Amino acid sequence: MPSIFTRIILGEIPCHKVYQDSHVLAMLDINPIAPGHTLVIPTEPAETLDKLSDDSAAAIGRLLPRLCRAVCKATGCNAYNVLQNNGSGAHQAVMHVHFHIIPKPDPSRGLGIGWPASKLDNAAGTDLAKSIARALAG
Ligand code: AMP
Repeated sequence: MPSIFTRIILGEIPCHKVYQDSHVLAMLDINPIAPGHTLVIPTEPAETLDKLSDDSAAAIGRLLPRLCRAVCKATGCNAYNVLQNNGSGAHQAVMHVHFHIIPKPDPSRGLGIGWPASKLDNAAGTDLAKSIARALAG
């Protein structure tokens, strides 16, 4: 079952397109939380970022800063967030990788963030960093 984003990429459903090439589509979010809220979507139908190919990741990575500059220029906004949700537990509603570029015109608009910071325990941090590094190498 193709995602709604795949159907948009294929031209089956309309969108407010900002950019498209063979690897990436950028369009306005249909329910923006600030003017200029833009979605950047790989044409590859990976569900979450960890499943995305290196080629698609590179294409998105090359384009994101340019798109951020364009959104800022068009909205006159210098502050913005880039958000990328993975999994329904992390608020992902459309199971096709996408990055949100969300202008922050003032404190009352754009992305609100809960940031429940704690202090990293030194020993636990040492173990965890090693464990992630091992996973990366394996
Ligand atoms: P997420 O919670 O990260 O999966 O966000 C999915 C986003 O896709 C939401 O902000 C929706 O408003 C947006 N969205 C869903 N359907 C469409 C559509 N047809 N066109 C544009 N944006 C959409």
